[in-house]
Amino acid sequence: MPDLITRPRRLRSFQALRNLVAESRLDRAMLVQPHFVVPGTGISEPIDAMPGIEHQSVDRLVATVGADLGLGIRSLLLFGVPEESCKAPDGRAAWADDAAVVQAVRALKREFGDDLVVMTDVCLCAYTDHGHCGVLRDGRVDNDASLPVLARMALAHARAGADVVAPSDMMDGRVGAIREALDGAGLESVAIMSYSCKYASAYYGPFREAARSAPGFGDRRSHQMDARNRREALLEASLDVEEGADILMVKPALAYLDVVADLREAFPQPLAVYNVSGEYSMVKAAAARGWIDERAVVLENWHAFRRAGADIIITYHARQALAQGWL
Ligand SMILES: [Zn+2]
Repeated sequence: MPDLITRPRRLRSFQALRNLVAESRLDRAMLVQPHFVVPGTGISEPIDAMPGIEHQSVDRLVATVGADLGLGIRSLLLFGVPEESCKAPDGRAAWADDAAVVQAVRALKREFGDDLVVMTDVCLCAYTDHGHCGVLRDGRVDNDASLPVLARMALAHARAGADVVAPSDMMDGRVGAIREALDGAGLESVAIMSYSCKYASAYYGPFREAARSAPGFGDRRSHQMDARNRREALLEASLDVEEGADILMVKPALAYLDVVADLREAFPQPLAVYNVSGEYSMVKAAAARGWIDERAVVLENWHAFRRAGADIIITYHARQALAQGWL
């Protein structure tokens, strides 16, 4: 018999024992369900590339969120999908009083109050006629001219009652500009979740259909991060922290877990991962063909986020997971 003192298998012998010593755990409180809000009433339209996810008008969204609350989903992230005719060079529909997101925030907070954490995406790409994340000058995204516009959008969401605004544009200085605008309006308790490390990623494909936000020309590589870079993520996150970010985020999630681990190590702030549309749709597509066990793959991915150090998981699978008792 070999002389083994330490045998890691001892603690793996049955489920209750494995549960006792598990290093990472999942809790429904850490899940955030994204939603796509459209103008109008009575609208619930499936998004082809994202099975199970819909465009919804405010009335239908309130009903969906009410049902989600019953499942234990207490946090959501709203994206607006405006009419094509509302799109303008400066994205002005983004802060209009009748913008679907502004209306949705109001309706959700009226209906559910503090039972629900309402977060809103802040970026111009769904609202500009050119589909870029900021305003343009000479065919390029003008960083500094975009900051007051983004701040105005964040302010409209905060005034409607958003608990957390989440800038995803990746302009330099946007967290500071938004913090200053919020504080100037007496909204110092509204938090900022910064998309600190948002990479220019091919995993956003299905989302562009969902948000109808594909750029009319060019791409987003002049502002989103380069997939080849790791140290730069620390620079981006430290700037956001200096400017007042309350929550940091890495997006996408699966291909960037080294970055999640780095941020966990370097910052005490809560850390979110965005398990993006492409990651979702790949799992959905493979599961639909019977090639993978959807539940097992989703939970394995979520545990990977937790191991890497994420506190918050933004995922299109939240509702299905809770409705089907995965947690
Ligand atoms: Zn954008």
